[in-house]
Amino acid sequence: MPRLISVISALSLGMLMAVLGPGSLKAQQGDADFQSWLAAFKQEAAAKGIRADTIETAFAGVTPIARVLEKDRSQREFTLTFSGYMRSSVTESRVERAQRLLQEHRGLLERVQAKYGVQPRFLVSFWGLESNFGDYTGGFSVIGALATLAHDTRRGAFFRSELLNALQILDEGHIAAARMTGSWAGAMGQVQFIPSTFVNFAVDFDGDGRRDIWNSLPDIFASAANYLSQEGWRGDETWGREVLLPMGFDYGHASLKKRKPLNAWAEVHGLKQGNGGPLPRADLEASLVLPAGHRGPAFLVYRNYRTILIWNRSILYALAVGHLADRIAGAPALASLPEEKAISVRDIEEMQTLLNAKGYDAGEPDGLVGRRTRAALSAYQRSVGEPADGHPTLEILKLLRGQ
Ligand code: CA
Repeated sequence: MPRLISVISALSLGMLMAVLGPGSLKAQQGDADFQSWLAAFKQEAAAKGIRADTIETAFAGVTPIARVLEKDRSQREFTLTFSGYMRSSVTESRVERAQRLLQEHRGLLERVQAKYGVQPRFLVSFWGLESNFGDYTGGFSVIGALATLAHDTRRGAFFRSELLNALQILDEGHIAAARMTGSWAGAMGQVQFIPSTFVNFAVDFDGDGRRDIWNSLPDIFASAANYLSQEGWRGDETWGREVLLPMGFDYGHASLKKRKPLNAWAEVHGLKQGNGGPLPRADLEASLVLPAGHRGPAFLVYRNYRTILIWNRSILYALAVGHLADRIAGAPALASLPEEKAISVRDIEEMQTLLNAKGYDAGEPDGLVGRRTRAALSAYQRSVGEPADGHPTLEILKLLRGQ
């Protein structure tokens, strides 16, 4: 009997291959695997209290999206430079449009500010950077994208939880499944909230009973403001400012880990405002950030900068939010953007390997410049008498190679 079955299976497999070709068979197996995963997921969602008709509507016709997996697996070849990032994200046309939109929506933005304590220029800055003021919100089905990523094993647990949150949003009727669109990774609407951020922070500010971050500007601004406010935003403070460092400054002080009173930065370390004037006297704690190393501009950053990092942990993104907000209020462009050569991810990996070999702990080489890599680099720079700014450059890589 077992033998007979195996003969039949072999036959049917052969017949299938003849009809479909090996590629299609693989696709069919993949699809069967997805469908059985989905059946189990639907049961979990039902057990969590999501209504049956919400689940059926949400997953009608959903299959894995190849483009989403492609995006998830593609790796950046070069690291972003501060100059390149600022040039592309804080453009003159974006500044002008932001100023115009702030005027147009001033009444609404001020009502949102009155309730949540976030200044209008920052709300417009986030809106501009997240979706170009609603132009680009991503055209993927959020359910389809999250199901694709949740079924994939790489970060399955995270996306599975986001998918459950997305179902909860549909179940509460905030948006119809077909209109719930977002980025390939499930960031939704004009402020690009992932579903868990939506569940925790989105608000209904126009009072129609739905939290609609796709179409309602009152909901969009208030949701962003509520998120920032809950994460510690101070409505009476700005984000930080550009500063000038004195000759002979010890770059070892530049670290988000080091917080000093603004007055100490001025009096002990000799920092001045970007325009050469004295720093304001204020009871603020600040850290020094050098996004392009010692040859680039320097910024003192305050508490609100750290809140921006909760929204998006990229130091470049946080500087762009702050600078665009300043430009909206009429501040000039940065005096100069340094010439920076982009450094490849492979070069960073090599740098990490060489640092580790020399006894400076840069962590597992992964091509990403994190806190540990900067600290190792900084210690190495100090040991060879280079400015210890912890900023990776091709020059430092050559030194490390012994060239
Ligand atoms: Ca609403």
